Amino acid sequence: MAVDSPLSSPLGPPACEKDAKALQFIEEMTRNAESVQQRVLAEILSRNAQTEYLTRFQLNGATDRETFKSKLPVITYEDLQPEIHRIANGDRSAILSAHPISEFLTSSGTSAGERKLMPTIKEELDRRQLLYSLLMPVMNLYVAGLDKGKGLYFLFVKSETRTPGGLLARPVLTSYYKSDHFKTRPYDPYNIYTSPNEAILCPDSFQSMYTQMLCGLLDRHQVLRLGAVFASGLLRAIRFLQLNWRQLAHDMETGSLNSKITDPSLRECIVKTLKPNPELAQFVRHECSKDDWEGIIVRIWPNTKYLDVIVTGAMAQYIPTLDYYSGGLPLACTMYASSECYFGLNLNPMCKPSEVSYTIMPNMAYFEFLPHESNLDSTGFDFTHELPPKLVDLVDVEVGKEYELVITTYAGLCRYRVGDILRVTGFHNSAPQFHFIKRKNVLLSIDSDKTDEAELQTAVENASHLLREHNASVVEYMSHADTKIIPGHYVVYWELLVKDSTNSPDNDTLEQCCLAMEESLNSVYRQGRVADNSIGPLEIRVVKNGTFEELMDYAISRGASINQYKVPRCVNFTPIMELLDSRVVSAHFSPALPHWSPERSQ
Ligand code: AMP
Repeated sequence: MAVDSPLSSPLGPPACEKDAKALQFIEEMTRNAESVQQRVLAEILSRNAQTEYLTRFQLNGATDRETFKSKLPVITYEDLQPEIHRIANGDRSAILSAHPISEFLTSSGTSAGERKLMPTIKEELDRRQLLYSLLMPVMNLYVAGLDKGKGLYFLFVKSETRTPGGLLARPVLTSYYKSDHFKTRPYDPYNIYTSPNEAILCPDSFQSMYTQMLCGLLDRHQVLRLGAVFASGLLRAIRFLQLNWRQLAHDMETGSLNSKITDPSLRECIVKTLKPNPELAQFVRHECSKDDWEGIIVRIWPNTKYLDVIVTGAMAQYIPTLDYYSGGLPLACTMYASSECYFGLNLNPMCKPSEVSYTIMPNMAYFEFLPHESNLDSTGFDFTHELPPKLVDLVDVEVGKEYELVITTYAGLCRYRVGDILRVTGFHNSAPQFHFIKRKNVLLSIDSDKTDEAELQTAVENASHLLREHNASVVEYMSHADTKIIPGHYVVYWELLVKDSTNSPDNDTLEQCCLAMEESLNSVYRQGRVADNSIGPLEIRVVKNGTFEELMDYAISRGASINQYKVPRCVNFTPIMELLDSRVVSAHFSPALPHWSPERSQ
């Protein structure tokens, strides 16, 4: 029950003293957004004054906004490649940050087909931890009694590598789960997980998922909230249950653990809690053997109050499937973050997914906003006026307008374009709130993969070389991320020009084309296919000749200009999908896994 606290917050009555402090902190930061931003920028610029990067732009120790804006360019990851290479190769001098770079965080964004490497410093962990510590106090304002049970969260670590200079390179969540901040977190009744650390930290994804699911089933009545980072992860867990419930039920019945769980510390930890429970085994068998899995989440975990998963941005495609499995439980999107920086949180986490807005916390970094309008080209320059657009400060953004996020971080990124497009929906005190619109240039995404138009084009080109011996070529193509079945997969519609009908490409060739496309896609895609099993085999659907002309006619009938019509390379619009699917003459799937190894290829 929420109690009235002497520290009562404008956000609502806090659930406990600890929450009151967190809510107070949010109030302070958002009320003083402008001065906090000024302080953050001054701190970053003064501590990094002697770095090679700031010296290069002759900041000469200035820490004020005007000098900063007039001297430092707005950059992208590509601009920083030389510095990042040097750090990766072992140059320990103060290139970007005065603090030593502690590791690289591997972003799901890619550059030249490989994950981007984001340098980070130790103290950033504290900043991330701080943001995490605000989430439950906010949630407790809306959902009472979360201290009376547990959270079933499917959390995973991924493989890590070392750069030639010896720095670790791993995803930000792997870094966080392996940190003492997470591993030795103090007891908090509002934040108890069913998954033991040993299960979360097990690098083998099968063993990790299996034991997390097992623990979640054993504790099924205690589970009050269920989640994963992204919606795709939670659906993967449901798919895992579909494939493994028999073995899980067997383990519960007999009290003996599946022999595939070989990690010694994980085995030891689970064996301790696993006792024969035939009744539970019978229940799981009864529910899971039904053909109809609608509402399975609330059937198995009847006390679940909400699902804690990100369903904004590319993940919105999973909302109907989550609704189906959960019987329409509320979906809570709690935070907005990236490898470069954790940005902010949702102060109204029980709102509808379409209404989610994230409040950027002004203490996390220095934030600027590049107006995002159609007359700005991809470099961000407005060629109609030939002037670089003016970046707007956090407190000066305007409601209803769209911006690209630009950050200056403690770890040394300066005026760095994140690539996310956000729309301002309102303010909490003087801190703006943003609806996540999209990641720039992303065409296809199933899990954390992000494939852009150029990557898809290259993949189609590479694959179509295999058609040459059939004297055939791809005349047009279009793609779609099909998430009807989990794991989702890429579908690429091909219209072929076959010059010799006696030698048209056979199934074998087209399957090899699927694989060739997969080999051409970036390493995050291939990791999803090979290591995480989060993406299914790529599919080519060959459509009848003339299909793309029909599509153009359709677009023109709806008002597109004949002169300017371009085939959209990705489609989600149902009538077009239906038209395409009704013209499919054959479908082909990738017959094997593409190559992937944790090592970087460059
Ligand atoms: P990464 O760099 O791999 O950590 O991915 C970070 C990116 O994921 C962000 O820049 C966003 O594009 C996306 N992202 C993170 N949080 C959210 C969210 N709450 N809603 C939508 N997209 C998100």
